[in-house]
Amino acid sequence: MAKILVCDKVSQKLIDGIQQMGHEVLYKTGMDEDELVKTVPGFNAMVVRSATKVTEKVIDAGLGSLKVIIRAGVGIDNIKHEYAKSKGIDVRNTPAASSPSVAELAIAHMFSVYRFVARSTWRLRKGDDFKKIKKESQGHELFGKTLGIIGIGRIGREVAWRAHALGMKIIAHDPYITDPGLDYVEMVSLDDLLARADIITLHVPKTDKPIIGREEIARMKDGAVIINTARGGVVDEEALLEALNSGKLWGAGIDVWENEPNINPELMNHPLVSATPHLGATTSEAQDRIGEEVLKIIKEYFG
Ligand code: NAD
Repeated sequence: MAKILVCDKVSQKLIDGIQQMGHEVLYKTGMDEDELVKTVPGFNAMVVRSATKVTEKVIDAGLGSLKVIIRAGVGIDNIKHEYAKSKGIDVRNTPAASSPSVAELAIAHMFSVYRFVARSTWRLRKGDDFKKIKKESQGHELFGKTLGIIGIGRIGREVAWRAHALGMKIIAHDPYITDPGLDYVEMVSLDDLLARADIITLHVPKTDKPIIGREEIARMKDGAVIINTARGGVVDEEALLEALNSGKLWGAGIDVWENEPNINPELMNHPLVSATPHLGATTSEAQDRIGEEVLKIIKEYFG
């Protein structure tokens, strides 16, 4: 029997599944570093999503018992994974389980920005005149537009086929992939993508410095849209704000932010922004698939 510490909200099916395998579970969310350091000793596995920060201190507290840290999701940037590995603790994730959900949210933000979905809801609720909103909300169709996908991995490809089905032309940039295996995707340089795309959506791992900053925005079409469901910081938020205020960009769809959960209020309140609080993988279907993947990993380690 292993001892499994589950630190973020997961599907109940996952908790039940671990118990049915005969392992002991402590399911406790919202722990800060101090509480984690007190709690982790004696546990053999930790299961986290993106909220729990697995710092060096937390890893040190698990030395002797902790064998694996499982990220129920994709990005492992909230885990000091290099440090964990250096201490002999594996870090695993569930890379494909949430891809359809994230792709659908990226498309949802495209519709939301192009058709004023979020903005009209907000204006109607605050009592703006119905006819005035209608007059000021002439949108665009996605049909016929060029979508620029930066990062054509698992999620990028899921976005590509959906956008293709909507009648969009797809161009993509990825320094590590020359052929994504989709004949309707044209691979281009970043410069070409910036110059040609009506909407740019990012599906890359977290980067040290932004992929889209002031210079890149300047090279984009006037009236272009940026969608970020990848990670906060891959788009420079200050540069994005400036471009929204100057009218260079038509709008932005943002699911992931610098400094979550203390996000930039100016950006979050901006009328041209469709905003969600890191909801990419937050569907029942994704959480069930993630749960199944986590159970497989636990079985692999502890039987
Ligand atoms: P993936 O590894 O399958 O694909 C990432 C792609 O980005 C790869 O093809 C890689 O070659 C490419 N890439 C790396 N650096 C690049 C660069 N500088 N320019 C262009 N391309 C580059 O990953 P994925 O599963 O598709 O996930 C993509 C992102 O989505 C990750 O950042 C992940 O954390 C994020 N994500 C967000 C949510 C959410 O809740 N919003 C949920 C899941 C994943």
